[in-house]
Amino acid sequence: MEFIDLAAQQARLKPRLEAAIQAVLAHGRYVLGPEVEALERRLAERVGVNHCISCGNGTAALQIGLMGLGVGPGDEVIVPGFSFIATAESVVLAGARPVYVDIDPRTCLLDPDGLEAAITPRTRAILPVSLFGQCADMEAVEAVAVRHSLAVLEDAAQSFGATRHGRPSGALSRLAATSFFPSKPLGAYGDGGALFTDDDELAEALRCIARHGEAAPYHHVRLGMNSRLDTLQAAVLLVKLECFDDELARRRTVAERYDRLLAPLDVALPMLAPGNASVHAQYSLQLAGRDAARARLAAAGIPTAVHYPCPLYRQLALMDPDCSLPACEAVCQRILSLPMHPYLEEAQQRRVVEVLAAALKAEGHV
Ligand SMILES: *Cc1c(COP(=O)(O)O)cnc(C)c1O
Repeated sequence: MEFIDLAAQQARLKPRLEAAIQAVLAHGRYVLGPEVEALERRLAERVGVNHCISCGNGTAALQIGLMGLGVGPGDEVIVPGFSFIATAESVVLAGARPVYVDIDPRTCLLDPDGLEAAITPRTRAILPVSLFGQCADMEAVEAVAVRHSLAVLEDAAQSFGATRHGRPSGALSRLAATSFFPSKPLGAYGDGGALFTDDDELAEALRCIARHGEAAPYHHVRLGMNSRLDTLQAAVLLVKLECFDDELARRRTVAERYDRLLAPLDVALPMLAPGNASVHAQYSLQLAGRDAARARLAAAGIPTAVHYPCPLYRQLALMDPDCSLPACEAVCQRILSLPMHPYLEEAQQRRVVEVLAAALKAEGHV
């Protein structure tokens, strides 16, 4: 059993992928070729914003986004204490300081109640994360941001395709960043990322930053970086977009089946916040005795993952010894992601749940 089965998807798309890749090899515009422009148009349409700016990866997208918002040395950016490293890493790479707030332990999303207390005169932006496939409480974040004149950048790396009250992730704030890492719901065959905004001026700044701060050929008005989406990756993503909605429906079926099968067990199922339609990037439940259960699953050949074992402020690279957030720390002890992809079959899911049930019993949890 695979944790994420990319081979099943590839078998389904093979002739179309091969044709798309051949077309790029034939025209030879490997960097910023026509497929990149076509993909940006398609993605912007889908998210419902005026601009999509593609770039090298999701981490760069966050960093470019922060730079575009004018975040730099001396600034603070509020982030949830529970996320992938890139959320806080991008803040540090932009020269600013991450300030951590706690999460709602049921949804694992930033708890907006903690925002006001984290704001200082140095706060410039809030970086909420739409984790595991569902959107953060963007209305509550926006309300605080408006009150304190702060920028908002949605980390939508795991939520491309998700909606909140019917509105797409990526269109819920002035700026959003996503990732096309292969294991994300919309994944390339390598690295990729993109930014979304409705703001014309900001879009121009972001594009400039991602292309060496170039205003005209070999004339550079600022220092940016080199961050571009390869034409080959854009071609792959255009093909994968064609089946994205079908795969989303399949992911939803898989998640609902897990919910049903796991209901009798002593585990906390992933909870969706009201108004959210998830893309189910992960199926992450919470349980006592996580490590022992995980070992028993591994022994039975069932791969799992821990997203994430350690709060951001306890990572060696980011250590903030004065920070302590109880929900982040509790979730890190209890979270466990089960195999999740659109092609997971009911029999496989039944086996995962059977082994997990036996593990809980053996460890003294009923
Ligand atoms: C994957 C991810 C990123 C970074 O994306 P890359 O393309 O791997 O750089 C950022 N934030 C979150 C929450 C992610 O899951």
